[in-house]
Parts: sequence; C-alpha cells; structure tokens
Amino acid sequence: MRTALFGDIHANLEALEAVLADAASQGVTDYVCLGDVVGYNADPVACLNIVRDMGCPTVKGNHDQDASDDHSLDTMNPVAATALQWTRDQLDEDQRLWLKRLRMVRQVSDYTIVHSTLDQPAHWNYVTNRFDAMSNFSYQFTQLCFHGHTHVPRVYMKSDKVREVPAESVAIEPGAKYFINIGSVGQPRDGDPRPCYAIYDQENHVVVFRRVEYDMAKTQAKIIEAGLPEMLAERLAEGR
Ligand code: ZN
Repeated sequence: MRTALFGDIHANLEALEAVLADAASQGVTDYVCLGDVVGYNADPVACLNIVRDMGCPTVKGNHDQDASDDHSLDTMNPVAATALQWTRDQLDEDQRLWLKRLRMVRQVSDYTIVHSTLDQPAHWNYVTNRFDAMSNFSYQFTQLCFHGHTHVPRVYMKSDKVREVPAESVAIEPGAKYFINIGSVGQPRDGDPRPCYAIYDQENHVVVFRRVEYDMAKTQAKIIEAGLPEMLAERLAEGR
C-alpha cells in the first residue's frame, strides 16, 4: 500500500491537480487529506468537490472550520479574514456542511492524522520545533502521526528523546515514534514555492516527500481576478 498524504490545499486547484497527477505517476493506491481544503486562494468549490469525491479520509483544518461557521472574523488577520469571507460566499449549504462534519482526528490503518496537534486539536497550535512536538507525542498512541498546519514539511522523531530529522526520505525505525508534517499543497511556506506532499510506503516502512511543478501564474491570475488580496498571489511565488 502506497498512500499519498496531502493537505493545506487552500483552494489552489492547479497545485492540487499537479499533486494528484504526480501521486498517480508514483503508483499511489490510497489518499489521505490533512485539512485546510479551502481558504486563501480562488478555487474553494473545485478543490472541495475533488477531495469530497475522492472519498478519502480527511480531517478538519482551521480554515475549513472558519469557512463553515458563521462566527465573526474580526480577530483574524485582515488578509485571512477577507479571503475567508470571500470563501464563505462561494460555498453552498452542502459544501459548508461537508466541511463542518469533518473530524478533528482520525486513525487510518496503523497511523493517526490531525491538522494541527493531538494534544489540543481544536486549539490549532503550531508545531515549529521539537519542544512543541513533545506535547503531541504524549497523546500519540500510533507509531506514526501525520499533520500539517504550518505549511512547512518537518519530521519529529521520538526514541530516547525527541529530535528533528530531515524531511526528505525517512526510513521508519522500529521502536521510534514519528510526528510528520507533510507540508502544503497550495501555499508552501518553507521558501520553496513548489507544492509539497508525502508518500507513505507501508510495506517498505518509508515516508518520502515530493515537490511538484505547477502552473502558478494561472493560480495567481485567478486570485487577482477574484478580487482577493494581491499579497496572496505574491506569497505563492515566494513560498512564504
Ligand atoms: Zn493551512
């Protein structure tokens, strides 16, 4: 079984299509989505419909929650709030309900998935270093847990202590636990603008990160055309 784990799509249709095409070319048999299907970019409906039609295990991201709720966006940063209000206006009742009903945490096969962290999944904490990762490990009862949220691919490994290992090709060692951030499809923030996802090969006990090319200019043009903040188009090129 080869599973593609992808998330933080953020309504970037061109990036999502590029990732799914790459996964198919890599002999992927299963798909898992780590949330934030919508928010920021200009194709929330198309991206939501693709993920929903795939019928793959999917957990809820903070943007999925905000887009499917009616609460005020006043406390959010203005760029994200503008994009979220625009997103709310695009979605129909069925699409909002699908987002609303997504679960925060799921166990899939022998691993767990969550958008942010297992210790307080509804608090949307950001894991940016091994100390943040430690709190998660206290609540991780499977060897592997995949997450997203920061848009930065990272691998935290817990054996005798918690340390970070390079997010490239990770050979899963028996006895160790792994908390793996699979990066972002639609708005990478590690300085590399190419969409990122991971493939978990269960037979060979290895997780491999993939970066793919996509038609970014098309995505950027749609953002401008939709009247979304220009900064959202600019940051795609910077990968920040
Ligand atoms: Zn996100």
